[in-house]
Amino acid sequence: MKSYALVEFGKPLQELERPDPVPTGTQVLIRVRRSGVCHSDIHIADGYFDLGDGKKMDVGQRMTLPTALGHEILGEVMSAGPDAPDAPIGKTMLVHPWIGCGDCKACLDGRENDCMRMNALGVFRDGGYATHVLVDHPKFLVDIDGLDLDTVTPLACSGVTVFNALRKALPIDDDEWLCVMGAGGLGLNAVSIAKAMGAKNIVCVDLDSDALAAAKDMGASATINAKEIPDVIGELQKVTGNQLLAVVDTVGNEITSHNAVQALVKTGRYVVVGLHGGSFKMPLPMLPQKALTVRGSYVGSCRDLKELVALVRTGKVKEMPVSTRPLDQADATLQDLRDGKITGRVVLTTD
Ligand SMILES: [Zn+2]
Ligand SMILES: [Zn+2]
Repeated sequence: MKSYALVEFGKPLQELERPDPVPTGTQVLIRVRRSGVCHSDIHIADGYFDLGDGKKMDVGQRMTLPTALGHEILGEVMSAGPDAPDAPIGKTMLVHPWIGCGDCKACLDGRENDCMRMNALGVFRDGGYATHVLVDHPKFLVDIDGLDLDTVTPLACSGVTVFNALRKALPIDDDEWLCVMGAGGLGLNAVSIAKAMGAKNIVCVDLDSDALAAAKDMGASATINAKEIPDVIGELQKVTGNQLLAVVDTVGNEITSHNAVQALVKTGRYVVVGLHGGSFKMPLPMLPQKALTVRGSYVGSCRDLKELVALVRTGKVKEMPVSTRPLDQADATLQDLRDGKITGRVVLTTD
């Protein structure tokens, strides 16, 4: 097998040749057909997340390098260990990468994404920037029969992440508004999935006019270019008629969080999924006086992913712009993403 692995933090990915892995126990071996390139891979490749005030959160401690990154994985089931007799050999399936320890309360409850000792594919062990990957159990494979392989791949991370966040932010009434901060891979998915979940009024904020045009295409009722409009809070209040009840922040920096909590109405909900970094500051009396809810949300469970795929099957979720590149472009794609040169999602392909 070939993989495009992180060998050293802060350095380009390297092509490595290794023997094909052999599944043991309940494991299944997947031949990777699609692998989505996610923004969080940049932080993982750097080895840290920015916590603001000059502080960093080290993600490197729990990683053993080299590791093939890539957590949006879709591929063909090639073989299975002796304890996985019902593995769907020969079928192409979407992989749920957010695997937990398997025996804590969250894992037993089917909320692996809330596990404190996550062992996610493409983060803490080899993932999808490779020709092959091992998955712990067939239960982490999701049936995507009949769906488009390119557009279904990003559901495993960006899709399920915003789906889970939107469930915390919604519902809103027809005269209320949802704001999606950021129109990158996560933000565009958030707009289309929110629409499919019944949100009528959605405003999207970003710095890039092309990304905002894409957000309009995905169903945003209004957009705000924060580069052109300095008073984003005032503009949000104006556009929503002071009815901004929920914000899903797919950026997660000091500016977006400030704008969100200031623009929300009383009882508003602010849900953060973006990992851009920095620290969150707000005047404390505002929290009770505006009766705000501030929540974080981290990826999603396998159950969430299956429910999202079912929602996609209804045809209500507008497909996000996805472009494909060959698998060996993993590092170049990560670099383009870092430089802000990508609208929508890039999915690497081996077909
Ligand atoms: Zn991701
Ligand atoms: Zn666990």
